[in-house]
Order: sequence, then C-alpha cells, then structure tokens
Amino acid sequence: MDILCPICAEPVDNDELHSYAKEIQSTYRAVAADYRQRGCKAIGMNHTTNSSSAVAANARVVYDILGDDMDGAMAEFADGTNTFD
Ligand SMILES: [Zn+2]
Repeated sequence: MDILCPICAEPVDNDELHSYAKEIQSTYRAVAADYRQRGCKAIGMNHTTNSSSAVAANARVVYDILGDDMDGAMAEFADGTNTFD
C-alpha cells in the first residue's frame, strides 16, 4: 500500500521504507518517523516537482493525527477521502 510524502505528496510503497531500513541497517519504525518529517528525502529519494500542496498538507494532517500508526495512514490514503476535514 502507498503512503504519501508529506512534502511533495509523491506516493511511495510502504515496502520502500522496509527496504530502506534494511539498506541503512536501521528499523522500519525509525525510517517511518523520519519519513513523516522529511518524506522522500528520508528514504534517499528526491521530492517530485509536480507536487500537490493540498495533498501534501492532507498527508501531514494524517501523520499528525495518527502518529506512528502507518497502517492507519495507509488506510486513510487508500480510502481517498479526508475524514479529518
Ligand atoms: Zn517528497
């Protein structure tokens, strides 16, 4: 399932965070925490240029509310509606 970058709104498969954690010998939890702050940059990617600030802002709200519940965040993004409005 995809998660959204809180900076540029680029969708990233959650598996990327697991892979990156393994790559840098860190934990998924640590990488996910970093990702919620820095998005793409936290997993060695660059932010996309065709970003949607509205979608990114929504992603930040989701992460703010759900904290380290990445499964919940994924469900929220997959749902496609923002229930926090
Ligand atoms: Zn990004």
